[in-house]
Amino acid sequence: MKIGTIASHSALNILSGARAEGFDVVLYCTPDRRKFYSAFGLADAIVEVHSFDEILDTSMEDTVLIPHGSFVAYIGADRILASDLRLFGNKELLRWEENRALKDRLMREAGLRVPREYASVKDIQTPVIVKTYGAAGGQGYFIAKNAEEAQEKMRPDQLYSIQQYVVGTKVFVTYFRSLAHDRTEVFGADIRYETDADANLRFDDTPSFIVVGNLPLVLRESVLAKYYQMGEDFVRGFQRLTGQDIPGPFCLETIIDRQQQIYTFEFSGRIVAGTNIWIPTSPYSYLQFGEQMWMGRRIAREIRELMEQGRLEEALT
Ligand code: ATP
Repeated sequence: MKIGTIASHSALNILSGARAEGFDVVLYCTPDRRKFYSAFGLADAIVEVHSFDEILDTSMEDTVLIPHGSFVAYIGADRILASDLRLFGNKELLRWEENRALKDRLMREAGLRVPREYASVKDIQTPVIVKTYGAAGGQGYFIAKNAEEAQEKMRPDQLYSIQQYVVGTKVFVTYFRSLAHDRTEVFGADIRYETDADANLRFDDTPSFIVVGNLPLVLRESVLAKYYQMGEDFVRGFQRLTGQDIPGPFCLETIIDRQQQIYTFEFSGRIVAGTNIWIPTSPYSYLQFGEQMWMGRRIAREIRELMEQGRLEEALT
């Protein structure tokens, strides 16, 4: 059996981990990226495609695909959901992630503290971040101090979600849910560095939130314990709502305010690029395994253990 992915996002992380666990790997790669990925020793694994959505029509019976952030961006959640790709993880969670109402419902069911949502401008009582629907990378978002300012900036033809603006430190925590061990592992934390919200334009009211890279973060141990519980609660919440599990990696995207309250404003139901900083290991995964364990390897290890238990299908949706 092979482990495969598309050439973007965290592909190097995923495929190096699969190789470390003894799997053959396959990288679906567009011609413009071939040289870059070959430079990392992946030349013999490359299958060239002209666009990533070609994988929808590619026969890959003996391959498990590891979805990452670029899958939705390049192929689209609808087409992924309708496909019979053998994906590691839960496709249903993609739907909950894509839809703001479902996303909110899941975070609330999990008992996570979420920023206040204002149904209408009239209700605004705090500074707000106003989010356009379907925006990627925070494009078109703006910040307003109060209702009047928000009203001035909103366009009548646009759908918005109006959220309490939480002032604090952004913390992204990644987890790994293991079916083989029936446990939720807290894997690592990072800070996403965003242009130009994190640069020198802090007072800009329409900052951009395009991710430039990720910085490693080691949490205070007492805070880590809270996040551990939040990860467990997230899994239980999803189980209650859908009767399904979340095999593999997921991430909670949070802000800690000055009262040390943790607000979760977003989640990802798959590997996030923030785990790329934890190659070859994160401190937490090292503590858990006593050996170097990065996310790509952790995924492959789970696949191998589930195969040994004859349960791999449970983790493929
Ligand atoms: P989507 O994944 O839905 O396309 P996105 O990832 O582009 O959204 P968000 O994650 O919602 O956008 O937000 C982008 C950035 O905006 C965050 O990384 C964070 O810096 C900031 N942000 C989002 N919500 C809040 C909030 N309630 N308070 C303060 N800052 C926020």
